[in-house]
Amino acid sequence: MANYTLPDLRYDYAALEPHISAQIMKLHHDKHHRVYVKGANEALEQLAEARRSNDFGRISQLEHALAFNVSGHVLHSIFWQNLSPDGGGQPDGVLAQAITRDFGSFDAFKAQLTHAATTIMGSGWAALCWDPIGRRLVTTQIHDHQSEITQAGVPIMVLDAWEHAYYLQYQNEKAKFFDAVWNLWSWADIAARYQVAQRIDLGLDQVVEARV
Ligand code: MN
Repeated sequence: MANYTLPDLRYDYAALEPHISAQIMKLHHDKHHRVYVKGANEALEQLAEARRSNDFGRISQLEHALAFNVSGHVLHSIFWQNLSPDGGGQPDGVLAQAITRDFGSFDAFKAQLTHAATTIMGSGWAALCWDPIGRRLVTTQIHDHQSEITQAGVPIMVLDAWEHAYYLQYQNEKAKFFDAVWNLWSWADIAARYQVAQRIDLGLDQVVEARV
């Protein structure tokens, strides 16, 4: 069985300064993200052990640990690739058209996603997700790593709102972090994820009205 592994960043720790400090990037990637990779692999081992020993009373707790850690691993992996030293500005092409179709305008989308991040209670993420059933873009708050995500929704753009993502640099002024990150979005990466997500077909066409 394949184990989860920590991917390297595609840029230097200091590459996102001044918006995100090298100190935060190094700790966030090398320490925080690594813990989720380790936790995911440990949960898999413990699940196998619980099955071998018929200890099914532990399964739900271990499944929760697996979901928490794998989701943390996936979200951080997307987040690093969503960001770029050459990022910022606005998307173009089909992603820009989809954002306008589903949110009215880029500015409305920006305000909605930023508000989702700012108003999370406790630890979590704000995400732009593709809903492959309704075939629309939606924003979602994600509590911790996995709760309240839109069912079947595919995150294509994620914003870490845990305190470890900003506290060393922005302290209690998290709104400044959520503002600064708009200088870093790699729209090329987000557009590529949007294109891939378009291909998802859950075979549930009958649960929505056909779009006219
Ligand atoms: Mn994080």
